[in-house]
Amino acid sequence: MPARRSWWLDRSAPRPPLQDAAPHAPDLIVVGGGIAGVGLARDLARAGARVLLVEGRRLGEGASGRNAGFVLAEGAQCYAAVAREQGRATADALREAGLATRAVIEAVAGRQEIGWQRTGSLRLAASAAEAADLRACARLLGLRWHAPGAEPGAGLPGTRRGGLVDPGDGVVDPLALLAALAQEARAAGAVFREEAPVTEVARHGNRWRVRAAGAAFEAPRVVLAASVATGDLLPAAPGGALLEPHRAQMLAARVEPAPTFPLPVYARDGHDYLRVLANGTLLLGGCRDVDPEGERTRSEIPAGAVQAALDDLLLRWTPDASRRTVLLRWAGTMAFTPDGLPLVGPWPDAPGLYLLTGLMGHGMGWGLGLARGLAAALTSGALLPPTFLPGRFA
Ligand SMILES: Cc1cc2nc3c(=O)[nH]c(=O)nc-3n(C[C@H](O)[C@H](O)[C@H](O)COP(=O)(O)OP(=O)(O)OC[C@H]3O[C@@H](n4cnc5c(N)ncnc54)[C@H](O)[C@@H]3O)c2cc1C
Repeated sequence: MPARRSWWLDRSAPRPPLQDAAPHAPDLIVVGGGIAGVGLARDLARAGARVLLVEGRRLGEGASGRNAGFVLAEGAQCYAAVAREQGRATADALREAGLATRAVIEAVAGRQEIGWQRTGSLRLAASAAEAADLRACARLLGLRWHAPGAEPGAGLPGTRRGGLVDPGDGVVDPLALLAALAQEARAAGAVFREEAPVTEVARHGNRWRVRAAGAAFEAPRVVLAASVATGDLLPAAPGGALLEPHRAQMLAARVEPAPTFPLPVYARDGHDYLRVLANGTLLLGGCRDVDPEGERTRSEIPAGAVQAALDDLLLRWTPDASRRTVLLRWAGTMAFTPDGLPLVGPWPDAPGLYLLTGLMGHGMGWGLGLARGLAAALTSGALLPPTFLPGRFA
């Protein structure tokens, strides 16, 4: 199966690569054209910075064009669990990134068609401990807890321990969102170069030199937003130790009769998830935990035990279906950090070098809020949440 495929990438119209003429003197170079890099380039360009974005493939060919398009303000660990394990300030910083991301997406959706629907989200508990955390989240965040059996859509088989609804969450077409952000970035003057894999980022006098596809670009500041590949590009790289690849896999299926589940569902601490598209197609993902070692890979090819587990989940979650046809299977790579928190801010002892990565399974929910914060730090000296600073690992 070709690695370039996903539900969204398969449906994107063919076009030539973006090869804008490079500005003579960019203020800033962004490496990586996923949600992080494109969102940041847009905010920087709108603030008046001359930005060059360099993407090794096409925009969205990384995880940002391969995901489920859930826009959830909470990560796999909800607010109460983060507050307990990492402190209230960290839980607040993540929630803030989530709320800011939703606000950016709502604003873009007001201007362009990106498939955004504020459906709300349903997080179904699969254990007593998860139910306790979600109930605590409902209390702390003013959200609604639905008791077992009273979940919207009556839950899903095997998950009847209650559920949390966050009405501000929703779903988006991730590739359409990315295209809309890129359009707004370029309209504000950002320059995009696709199919230009960066091979070196090195200090050169008081500037950074970025080598890509036979060209060299220089700027006083560089932001690495290249997901797991960020570790390869850091000058003094602890590399793999800082960012670990985790493959996530999905499938799309036509189910008869077509399911009408009203909300995107995130279950079992985010290990299983499902959404139903407007045309009735079901997108199902997760089950990484059946083969944690095998999924620690940069491969974007769907494989192995996880796809079999997704087939099982499809059977369990659509018990009344007379027919199920899998239309597509695909995978993508996520970047995980050792403490489960993003990396946003300057890289220590490398003046002018910044990171915006480590978004794990939540780049659509957090990425644009984090990008907005970094853009504000870079253009007007706004403070970044200390809890996300990359220097915590130095
Ligand atoms: C199957 C799946 C389902 C998911 N579902 C959801 C979801 O529903 N909601 C959610 O919030 N999150 C979800 N995620 C996670 C989310 O997709 C990621 O957190 C997010 O896309 C990460 O964005 P990014 O910009 O950091 O990385 P990416 O989107 O991976 O972008 C990094 C870019 O850098 C480029 N690059 C790499 N190396 C170089 C180089 N040397 N030179 C130039 N460019 C380079 C890559 O080509 C890539 O385009 C899912 C992920 C997967 C795989």
